[in-house]
Formats: sequence, structure tokens, C-alpha cells
Amino acid sequence: MMLGLLLARAGIETIVLEKHGDFLRDFRGDTVHPSTLQILDELGLKQRFDKLPQQRVSQLEVLLADGPRPVIDFRKLKPYPYLALVPQWDLLELLAQESAHYPWYSLHMQAEAVRLIRDETSGRFCGVHTQTPSGNLRINADLIVGCDGRQSVLRHAAGLQPQNLGAPMDVLWFRVPRSAGHPNGTYGVPGSGGFLVLLNRGDYWQAAAVIPKGDAARTMAQPLSSFKSSIARRAPFLSNELESLLSWDEVKLLEVRVDRLQRWNQPGLLFIGDAAHAMSPIGGVGINLAIQDAVATANIIAAPLLAGLQPDEPTLARVQRRRMLPTRLTQGIQTTLQHRLIAPALQKTGTDKPVEMPSLLKLLLRWDTLRSIPARIFGLGFRREHVRSPKHKIP
Ligand SMILES: Cc1cc2nc3c(=O)[nH]c(=O)nc-3n(C[C@H](O)[C@H](O)[C@H](O)COP(=O)(O)OP(=O)(O)OC[C@H]3O[C@@H](n4cnc5c(N)ncnc54)[C@H](O)[C@@H]3O)c2cc1C
Repeated sequence: MMLGLLLARAGIETIVLEKHGDFLRDFRGDTVHPSTLQILDELGLKQRFDKLPQQRVSQLEVLLADGPRPVIDFRKLKPYPYLALVPQWDLLELLAQESAHYPWYSLHMQAEAVRLIRDETSGRFCGVHTQTPSGNLRINADLIVGCDGRQSVLRHAAGLQPQNLGAPMDVLWFRVPRSAGHPNGTYGVPGSGGFLVLLNRGDYWQAAAVIPKGDAARTMAQPLSSFKSSIARRAPFLSNELESLLSWDEVKLLEVRVDRLQRWNQPGLLFIGDAAHAMSPIGGVGINLAIQDAVATANIIAAPLLAGLQPDEPTLARVQRRRMLPTRLTQGIQTTLQHRLIAPALQKTGTDKPVEMPSLLKLLLRWDTLRSIPARIFGLGFRREHVRSPKHKIP
């Protein structure tokens, strides 16, 4: 959606395909970090973004037995000293509305790209076959950008296989009502039998229970009441509200993957976002990296497309060269934290033995000056992008 907007804004005929009929899926991250706030500002969208329903979080906290304690502190970051928690469908809707101003832009909902088309003579990918409710559609293109997420159909169709970097966990994702007496923040809750994340979405908590990889079938074979009790033991203030969780159907399994393509492009085809590098939920940076990829891509490919040229391989390879370092560094930090913090905690799952506080967490709890370091790493990221693609006047 972001790349579609940037290309349309530059005056390039752009088609965005989305296989679903709306953006209203629940299991999307909500964390809009300062790096993305900066991009929205550069696009003149920050004021409209600020009007979306959101929680501004200046510190991320862990909920310990003696109450919430800060571990990540955004307050020193400039010019946006906070993380915005915004339902992703609202952000996507905002981008869709802005893109719709450009008559050469079109967004096809319920349009699923199913197959790539390759020019037999040149070997270059030159379009996609798409399934829509009104029949199949062939779309020809000077460039196809696969932004179709971690299960990318286009990546598979191009015969590309990402390198799996491993993740010890999956996530069970569910909602719990938020009541008047509840704490106000957004929390990680370490505790007996695993790790819980509570995202404050105003009138409800979006809860994420971290479970060992592949353990969902075993966990969900238990009575729901056992699961609810294990959550209530970690966050006792949720005990009453957990009553509203009536069936396992309300608990979704989100599989965590961390992987990376070795080569992000083929002739006529480029992959960005999770299709090029699936991110762990740690730090809530996946959306933000995907947006940085989109900005870098537009910065690199707008000029040749505007000149009526099909971006060649060296041009497409520049996108990967630009974005590989931030991807590697961020995934490196995520996999280290998975290994050091999450995996040891998960070994205690089902035992109700207390999880030992990792030394990194102890340091962050003790030294407030250290807390702005993770805020900078996750909030701003590495090699920050700025919008440099041109802006075409709306006729
Ligand atoms: C449990 C979990 C929690 C997470 N929490 C966060 C978080 O809080 N914050 C954060 O920043 N990141 C989070 N992430 C990571 C984040 O979800 C991804 O990194 C991010 O969504 C990647 O964006 P994307 O645009 O590349 O792909 P996606 O967001 O997956 O978007 C791909 C889009 O393409 C559409 N699509 C797929 N196939 C086709 C097709 N064939 N034709 C047409 N359309 C298609 C899909 O419907 C979808 O809309 C989390 C990940 C997990 C697993």
C-alpha cells in the first residue's frame, strides 16, 4: 500500500492487488514506530494519521508482581518521542484514500495474484494472472513487486526459497475486554509458564500468549479453562474479563517465522517486506521495515519508470543492497533475543515454575539511561529512509 501510494504520487501508473475484500484482519501488528511517523510526515499525512484512534506509548513496561516497570523508553527520541498503537486497517485505509486521489492508481480488492507471466523470448517476468469474483484477469506490468507477505505466492511462483533463520515460538492471539480499573500501558508479562504481551487497544486488550513452536495443537487440546487460568495467573487483573472468552475459535494461532531471501529480484520482479524477509514480532518492527523497504524502492525505481524504462537488474539489485544491512541487523537482534529471552522462558511452559529474570531485563530495569537504546534500535531502526521520489501534481 505504501509503495503503491509513493509510485502513484510520483505520477506512475500503479495497480495494487489485495486478495481480501477489506483490511479488517485482526492479526496484524499495530505498532507504528517513529521511523514510520517520520515518513507519514514527509508525505503530508501526519495530521490525518494523528486523528486515527490510537494509543501513544512513551514507555514499554514489564508487569511484575510489584506492578509495571519501564524497560524501553521512547521519550528521548526526536521529533516523535512515542510509539503509536494504531489498528493497521485504519493506517491502510488512510493510505488507500490518499492513493485514490491519483487517477492513474487503482486498488483491486478481492484480487488474488495466482501466477506470474514470463515473456518467453526475454525471460523477463511481465505480468500476473489474478483471480477476482468477476473472473480471471491478466495484468501486464513493466515491474511486478511481490509484497504478498511471509507466505508469498509470487515468491513461490518465481521458484525462490527463503533461508529459515529459526524462531522458537508461535503466538496465540486473542482479545480480552479492558475495564476501568485496569492498568494503562502496553506490557510484556513474564511469569510462570511463559510470556504474555498485552497491547492496549482502548476498550480491549489485544493479548499475545507466546508458546513453544509447534505446541499449539497440544495447548489447544486442553480445556479452554486451563488456558484461561494460566493467563489469569500471569495477569490476575484479567481474571473476570477472561470469562468473556468462550471458545478456542476466538484464539488464533499466529506462526512466527524469521527468514530471508538471498536474492530479492529476478528480471521484472522484486520482493520487499515480509515476502523478502519475514520478521519476528519482537520489537514490533515488521510493518516499519516493510514501509522503509517501500520508501527505498520508490526512491530507486521511480526515475526509470517515469522515463518509460523497465527497471533493469542492476537497478532492482540496488533495493536489496540498500535494505539488506537494516534487515540483517534487525533480524540478528531479534534472533538473539529469541534465543536469550524467549527460549529459556518457554522451557518452563506447562510447569508453572517461575521464569528467571534474564540479565538483560535486569539491566534495563535497573539503569534508566539504558532504556533509550532499545527505543532507538526499534523506534528508528538502522539506515533510515526518507521520501525522495518525486511528487506529481494531482490533475
Ligand atoms: C504474531 C506476530 C505479531 C506481529 N506483530 C507485529 C507488530 O506488532 N508490529 C509490527 O510492526 N510487526 C509485527 N509483526 C510482523 C508484521 O506482521 C510483518 O512484518 C508485516 O506485516 C509485513 O508487512 P508486508 O506488507 O510485507 O506483509 P503483510 O502485512 O503480510 O501484507 C501482505 C498483504 O498481501 C496480501 N496478499 C497475500 N497474498 C496475496 C496474493 N496472492 N494476491 C493479492 N494479495 C495478497 C495479504 O492479504 C496482505 O494484505 C508481527 C508478526 C507476527 C507473526
